This record gives sequence, C-alpha cells and structure tokens, in this order.
Amino acid sequence: MVHTVGLVYTDKYQSYNFGPRHPLRPLRLKLTYSLMKELNLLDHFNLILLEPRMATIEEIERAHSSDYVNVVKKLSENPEDRSISPQVYGLGPGDNPIFKNMYDASALVCGASITAADMVWKEEGIHMAFNPAGGLHHAHKSRAAGFCIFNDIAVAIHHLKKINPDIRIAYLDIDAHHGDGVQELFYEDPNVLTISFHESGKFLFPGTGNTNEIGEGLGKGFSMNFPLLPGTSNRMFLKLFRYCIPKILQAYSPDILFTQLGVDMHYNDPLTQMGLSIAVYRDLAQTMRSCARDYCQNRWVAVGGGGYSMTVVPRAWTLFLSKMLDVDLLNQLPDTWIAEVKKDVPYEDVPILLWDRDDKSEVQLLSHPEIAKKMIDYNKDLKRICDEEYIPRISSVG
Ligand SMILES: [Zn+2]
Repeated sequence: MVHTVGLVYTDKYQSYNFGPRHPLRPLRLKLTYSLMKELNLLDHFNLILLEPRMATIEEIERAHSSDYVNVVKKLSENPEDRSISPQVYGLGPGDNPIFKNMYDASALVCGASITAADMVWKEEGIHMAFNPAGGLHHAHKSRAAGFCIFNDIAVAIHHLKKINPDIRIAYLDIDAHHGDGVQELFYEDPNVLTISFHESGKFLFPGTGNTNEIGEGLGKGFSMNFPLLPGTSNRMFLKLFRYCIPKILQAYSPDILFTQLGVDMHYNDPLTQMGLSIAVYRDLAQTMRSCARDYCQNRWVAVGGGGYSMTVVPRAWTLFLSKMLDVDLLNQLPDTWIAEVKKDVPYEDVPILLWDRDDKSEVQLLSHPEIAKKMIDYNKDLKRICDEEYIPRISSVG
C-alpha cells in the first residue's frame, strides 16, 4: 500500500513573528524546509507539498471565544488601539507581543493544521501529514499564552469533529512544556484523549500537567500526563514512552493520531532543562509511525511546537519527516545547509552531524548513580500510574 506523506508549507509562515528579540523565531521553519530540501526529501515520490489556506473566523471560533478573536483582529489591524486592555487577553510585552497582521499570521497556522488534518482524513492514499508551523498548544479559549495566539491544534481537532461528529482522536504532545491549552479545551470530551509528556510543572511553565489532571465529567480519564524530571535522558524517555504509548493507543483505539512535536526537550534548548539529544527524535518518530499504523487506522497528523535552538529544530523535524517517508538518512549534513546556518545563526555552534550521537545526560547520570536511581524510580511510578490508573479508566468505557 502506498503511504503518501503531506508536508504543509509556505514562505508566509515567516509572518508569525514576534520580533527579533523573541525566542520563537520563524527562521527555524525556513532552515527546516531548506534542510528537508537539501536532503532530497521534498523530491521523494511519496511526498506531496501542500499549500495551506487560512482558517475562517467560524473555524477559529470553534476553539476560541468570539470576544477574544475580535480583540486579536482589532489589535492586528491597529497594534496601538487604546480602547482594548490587551493584557486581559494575555497579549502585550513579554511572551506574546502584539504585532501588525498577527490575526492573518495566526489564522494561517490554524488553516495549515486544518489542511494537514483534512488530507489525512479525507484523501485516498495520504496517511500522514506534517505542518511544522503548527503546535501552538498553550493558547486558551479567551487568552494567548506561551507564544501561542490561536490554538491551531484545537481548531484542527474541532474541524475533524465537525466533518465527522463521532470521530475519536488521540492527541500526543512531546513538547517540554505541558500541552495545557489543548488539555483544557477538551477536558470534558471523551472523544479527544490528550496525552502530554513534559518537563514537570514544578520546574517549568506553565506549571500544570500533573498526574492528577485526568479530565472532568464525561471526559474523566481522558487526559493523561507524564511530568518528567529535569535532565531526563534519551534512554529513560524512550523506555517510558515505548512502555506506555502503544498500550494506551491500543486501549483507546482512535480513528486518528494527532501529535505535537515540540523539540525543546533537547539538552541545548535555551528555555528548558531536559536532556534529550536529536537521536531520540528519530526513534520516537519510528514508534509513532508504527503506533499510527497498528492502533490509529494508519492516520497520523503531526504539527510542530516548541524548540528554540535554531540548529536543533531543523534537524529533529527533518528526521521526523524522513521516518514518515520511511527514508533512512545518513548521519551527515549538506555543506550548503551548513553554510546557510553559519550565515543565519552566527551565534550558535554549527553542527556537523544530522543527529548528535552522544547522550550527554546518560553520561552525567552514569557518574551520578544516586540521581539515576531517583529518576528510574520516578519513571517506574509513572509506568505504574499508566498501568493501574490511566489505562483502566479508558478501557472501562464502551
Ligand atoms: Zn515548549
């Protein structure tokens, strides 16, 4: 069977831009696209490049209050509008600065995730699609948060629910930050299972994502959280992920897998304290792909997310795309791409390899056995919670 992969991309993604001093730089998307291109993934016979459309106001308002959407629209036209108190809506200096045309830029990200979801759901022969600009998982119903104005994930999920009211969706989030916005927007919905792996909220924004956040009402049991200790290594992460995720997806048996692929758990990320290296993303992609095939009707929608090292994000997301296409790349980087990075990101060390072999966290843990033991015991407890609490709750339904 042919497995076609859609990549949703446009140069217009550059317009989602909070300014040169903000950590979320659209440059990372440009560098991602050029690395995918230089490694010939865009010429692959199974890849289809998809041009995104903008989401309509009606589509955005399925996830957000019309009051908030109007505020974003007004400030987008006139960032100086004094009739609005932007801080009430999470907008303004700090994480979510107001910028001209931010409505269009955000509606485009939402439309791009809808494009990805539509292709996977509707088209014959397309089983996977990736919108690297998406993944704005912190946006709330009436408030921007954590660099996220509109929640493209929630907008795309609502779109899928609109065209198929009975659809059951598994949302899996591996960003270093808890996927709080998506969890909140579907907290009472048993047809959207949200699963988030993140650095524990005790140490990192937004502070939520504890194991006792399990959903409410009909949605009770359909939110799952795996708060991790800072410094978690590739091996520790993979063991936990591969133990829990296939079991959860098998028990829930969704119609589609929706993943948020934030890559800010990398040890070089300037905003977090996790210990993963790029090699782990190749392995995670492999596991996600087989889980999508075995337990999710062979449908996989992926969006981007966090990741604030300009040299980590392009390499990690290129590995995800390569695994979607079932292409094994060599561990090397094209000279042309290295030259582009040197020009665009003179302040970061220029990588030579596509994935970093060394697992620095693992090495550190080996020299600190007491910390390693604590982490192993901690993750054992998460496995126990998964087996004894999470899975029985979703299995007892239907
Ligand atoms: Zn993040």
